[in-house]
Amino acid sequence: MAYDFDLFVIGAGSGGVRAARFAAGFGARVAVAESRYLGGTCVNVGCVPKKLLVYGAHYAEDIAQAQGYGWTVEGASFDWTSLIANKNREIQRLNGIYRNLLVDSGVTLLQAHARLVDAHTVEVDGKHYSAEHILIATGGWPQVPDIPGREHAITSNEAFYLEALPRRVLVVGGGYIAVEFASIFHGCGAQTSLLYRGELFLRGFDGSLRDHLKDELIKKGVDLQFNADIARIDRQTDGSLLATLKDGRTLEADCIFYATGRRPMLDGLGLDTLEVALDERGFIAVDDEFRTSIPSILAIGDVIGRVQLTPVALAEGMAVARRLFKPEDYRPVDYNCIPTAVFSLPNMATVGLTEEEARKQGRKVTVFESRFRPMKLTMTDSLERSLMKLVVDAETDRVLGCHMAGPDAGEIMQGLAVALKAGATKRVFDETVGIHPTAAEEFVTMR
Ligand code: FAD
Ligand code: NDP
Repeated sequence: MAYDFDLFVIGAGSGGVRAARFAAGFGARVAVAESRYLGGTCVNVGCVPKKLLVYGAHYAEDIAQAQGYGWTVEGASFDWTSLIANKNREIQRLNGIYRNLLVDSGVTLLQAHARLVDAHTVEVDGKHYSAEHILIATGGWPQVPDIPGREHAITSNEAFYLEALPRRVLVVGGGYIAVEFASIFHGCGAQTSLLYRGELFLRGFDGSLRDHLKDELIKKGVDLQFNADIARIDRQTDGSLLATLKDGRTLEADCIFYATGRRPMLDGLGLDTLEVALDERGFIAVDDEFRTSIPSILAIGDVIGRVQLTPVALAEGMAVARRLFKPEDYRPVDYNCIPTAVFSLPNMATVGLTEEEARKQGRKVTVFESRFRPMKLTMTDSLERSLMKLVVDAETDRVLGCHMAGPDAGEIMQGLAVALKAGATKRVFDETVGIHPTAAEEFVTMR
């Protein structure tokens, strides 16, 4: 049977664009439908604008520290509106680049919502398109618990477009987004509290790192409240918000920001009529080669809820394009040793096993830790300290995990991820000559 396209991709985010471009490059006839914004979450309301705001927030520290280096910075002031306007301009530029990437690769771009009709048909703007393969790459959406007054809360989607910096912010959640935005709001000058329902935030990260980041955020002046959760939110007559906590306490704020995880984006996708199986968490269930329960329909990225990171969506998109249209180059996605960073202030980054995970696996581990004041801060009043940690298998000498909190942790961790994937032992780390003077050299000098 002749189809309109070889591949129809729903969603032009990280994963969808990667799959579409490469499939077209391999000679396939490809269409992409995008209902909202080219580049998806990462480019518009995720990684990119988030990192720009983190840079913006960090200037507060840079300016305060400049005096130690002889600079007098008089009359420094911050304007949230300029930061957001400049960020918006940059995102628009990136949207254009994504459009060109798709169009230049020969992909047919449809800027509208897409709905699955059957195993080989998609409807866009009332028109039906047939395709041999359909790829769902529709990403995720913030989820806010169903509490009275939740309509008064915002999520990351809205935070990127706030017209003014709120004076007092309550951030709810203890994952990546909560910690990053607590740093952004605090750095930009808002009085910031982070409320997390458990004992200690960043569940799943190495315990030393979580404790360290807690101490650093408290030193900087972020109000951290653990074992705290909001039961209801009320708008007061003066326009401010009143959060009533489950323990009965009340907190006032001008903005309540929820970062309590993301659900798969399945709205209006047609799954009410087409039985694509979901897993027990509600994400689209796929096999090792990203086939759903309907084999001609595939899914990748946040909508399958494996590892919700842009480079993972890219790798999955690439794997699909290759398996379908260049099978001789196909390699399965390797989910081992995925490095990741939380762009809090200070940053933290990690690759491999945490100490807790390694011990839970029954391994005998040797742990190396280095805690120090970053050199750049020695001539300033900053009390910030860095932490580096290696988790080593005591029997094989293999480095199982690298963890860091401190400036440029994400930049430093990328290279270490290569070493871990290559199976480096602690001895290889020890035999590697450092670059002096850097913070990164600590990773090869810990004894
Ligand atoms: P998305 O990028 O979400 O793209 C899905 C696209 O599909 C969207 O453009 C959407 O509009 C479109 N769509 C949905 N339904 C339809 C439909 N029916 N028809 C047509 N189009 C549709 N990851 C990192 O690696 N590093 C970071 O620093 C980082 N920071 C983040 C910060 C925030 C605030 C958030 C929210 C996420 C962050 N992430 C980060 C995660 C990263 O953004 C996601 O993992 C990544 O974007 C997932 O890509 P995707 O292709 O699966 O989906
Ligand atoms: P996460 O899953 O990282 O964290 C969600 C947090 O919300 C957890 O602390 C969780 O607590 C808490 N939570 C969940 N449900 C509730 C509830 N009902 N009430 C109170 N608290 C609740 O989600 P995020 O929203 O922070 O980010 C989504 C994903 O996006 C991340 O997992 C990550 O993959 C990606 N991302 C990556 C970034 C990066 O690479 N730098 C940056 C931002 C996002 P508990 O731990 O107790 O379950």
